[in-house]
Amino acid sequence: MSKIPYPTTKFLKVKCTSCNNEQIVFDSAKIVVKCNVCSEDLTQPRGGKAKIIGEIL
Ligand SMILES: [Zn+2]
Repeated sequence: MSKIPYPTTKFLKVKCTSCNNEQIVFDSAKIVVKCNVCSEDLTQPRGGKAKIIGEIL
């Protein structure tokens, strides 16, 4: 029985801590995701899982 690796990527809605913009981000983003409004970092890549900086809604 072969098991296909299942991607555990999820979408998260994150609220920017500086301007309260709500934005959808991947929880396994491998790049820094920036706020579309104020360019504040919303996630930072950290081994497989992204570190979410903003508030998760
Ligand atoms: Zn912002």
